[in-house]
Amino acid sequence: MQELLGEWDGESVSIHIDRKSGAWMFICVHSTALGKAAGGTRMRHYASPRDGLADGMRLSEAMSLKFACVDFPHGGGKAVIALPTEVIPSGESRENLLREFGAFVNSLGGLFSCAPDMNTSDKDMDVISERTPYVFCKTEAAGGAGDTSPDTAVGVLHGIRATCRYAFGSDDLSKRTVLVQGAGGVGGRLIELLMQADVAVIATDIDAQRLNAFRDRGLRTVAADDALATDCDVLSPCAVGGILNPETIPNLRCRAIAGAANNQLRSPNDADLLRRRGIAYAPDFVINAGGVLHGGGLEELHWTRAQLDAKLAGIGDSVYEIFERAEREGISTDAAARRIAMDRIQRAATTG
Ligand code: NAD
Repeated sequence: MQELLGEWDGESVSIHIDRKSGAWMFICVHSTALGKAAGGTRMRHYASPRDGLADGMRLSEAMSLKFACVDFPHGGGKAVIALPTEVIPSGESRENLLREFGAFVNSLGGLFSCAPDMNTSDKDMDVISERTPYVFCKTEAAGGAGDTSPDTAVGVLHGIRATCRYAFGSDDLSKRTVLVQGAGGVGGRLIELLMQADVAVIATDIDAQRLNAFRDRGLRTVAADDALATDCDVLSPCAVGGILNPETIPNLRCRAIAGAANNQLRSPNDADLLRRRGIAYAPDFVINAGGVLHGGGLEELHWTRAQLDAKLAGIGDSVYEIFERAEREGISTDAAARRIAMDRIQRAATTG
């Protein structure tokens, strides 16, 4: 793990081992220049604890960029609960693990506040909050903002419109075909919103049941393995990261990419490959910011629904601004978004 830490530009990593379950817990704080760190809690098995740490570091950087791009007063962080086996705990053992994690978060005294992410939910945040107040997105019944997925989908829809305005000269989605990869919390809601907007939607999911609700409503489906090479105007990745890479990019048959999944590019260089192919790419950490605006905006800044809706619409403006800056400066959209975020972070760091 030493070489990972040596190469990282983040601020701190805290490590805790839950001796009962054997799970390793990492809290990675990438930057506190814009405010205390916040980010999701990813619970999954990794080949080694080192891989869990690497994931947390990468994801915490994405959180810094995300907060900075949407001008939200938090620094980037991420928590990883690296399980010892593929089995996702349930029942009492899950609750014990979450309480242990809650005590770990609390020991940092507010440096990092957690929220849901892969395999953790608003109900899990309720359990964690038994041990610490530094928790976003508890259930609404427990006084939290609840599920972030619907508003993440709304933000992605604004981002898709902005991407189409840039790539096709019009944000009228009724003329477009959008392929949604992953029909889970975000992708499922996005499919609904797209269908309401008369978009020709194609969807795919490795879990076929996720598509059942839409089948009798004219949704076209494709096999998960064929999705990336399927003809469409906009590809909307809403499943897993790393799908845009030197192996997949030459075979893409879309004109634009705009979706919720975190870390869609395997490496930042892949954005240059997309640029060379003339594919308009909306940076993931900008277009998927609806979740943090929902959680932080409602719970911490006490926005009204109307204020939150305006901020979600602002995601579209940010995405468009990034396309324009990338074109002006002759760089990829990923690089342009990073420049905007780093300018804000560095300005905050130097002004204190
Ligand atoms: P989810 O687990 O509810 O849904 C993911 C879906 O993708 C599942 O239905 C799963 O079966 C499917 N899937 C997995 N691998 C696939 C593959 N190779 N091909 C097709 N389908 C596949 O997750 P979610 O909350 O909807 O989040 C989706 C993505 O968006 C994740 O990358 C997440 O990190 C990111 N994200 C989510 C939020 C949020 O508010 N939930 C916010 C920001 C970013």
